Amino acid sequence: MPGYAIFVTGATSGIGLGIARRLAACGHHLAFNGLADADTIDAVTSELTSLGAASCRYIEGDMRDPAAVRAMMAEAERDLGRIDGLVNNAGIQHVAPVESFPPEKWDEIIAVNLSASFHTIAAVLEGMKQRGFGRIVNISSVHGLIASVNKTAYIAAKHGLVGLTKAVALEAATYGITCNAICPAWVRTPLVEAQIEARMVANGTTRDDEARAIVGERQPNERFVTVEEIGDLVRFLIEGEGAASITGAAMPVDGAWTAQ
Ligand code: NAD
Repeated sequence: MPGYAIFVTGATSGIGLGIARRLAACGHHLAFNGLADADTIDAVTSELTSLGAASCRYIEGDMRDPAAVRAMMAEAERDLGRIDGLVNNAGIQHVAPVESFPPEKWDEIIAVNLSASFHTIAAVLEGMKQRGFGRIVNISSVHGLIASVNKTAYIAAKHGLVGLTKAVALEAATYGITCNAICPAWVRTPLVEAQIEARMVANGTTRDDEARAIVGERQPNERFVTVEEIGDLVRFLIEGEGAASITGAAMPVDGAWTAQ
């Protein structure tokens, strides 16, 4: 297996870090971003290197800013020499009813969870086409397939990301490039911990009560998806020979949530 050059967005935490760990252990060259302090960035870089990454570097870029995203991708392509794999994972959440949903939060969520992926893909696609190989994985959500209350911006963005995935898959289909979306249910990361905490305050309950409740409500297997499970699927989509014809797919990893 060659060491592919792979960019993972939002790899300083949660699912992105789980994906980067899995790809590092396979010996790929990695570049990653994320909003984090210098100590966290150093710790992630050392960990990925010790896990076996052929090389590893952090590239700054705030995904809310299209110009910063384009600059980050140009820097990554210069540094790595090429980009074979792109994992669009960075994402944020805000929970509120539509009529009181802050417009600035709507803009921010659409920018990070949807538009940034357009910019990263647009920046790398030409190079992938020229080399006749590319693997793009977009981390959408069960909320890219179905809705829940109080998450309008997130759901609109994640549905949009599934649409972007399909459109790119079509345009790139004859170039040896695949583009897929992964649609996880609850994964216990800082993004979800914030929602558990909000429910604890609202309901006067404990962290364990709310953790059990959120997976029990709509996720039939009643347990959190793990970052390792998502990392494994990303690894397969990027380097698995059997994945070459999987493109334009939106894959639930959701304990049968969307089977209902
Ligand atoms: P997380 O909060 O642990 O990690 C989010 C990552 O995105 C961090 O590295 C953060 O620094 C980065 N990020 C956020 N805003 C950024 C910005 N403006 N610029 C650059 N980086 C930025 O969250 P997570 O749960 O690991 O989420 C990762 C992805 O998985 C998101 O797209 C999320 O929507 C999706 N997802 C999460 C769950 C879940 O239950 N946790 C379920 C389905 C989908």
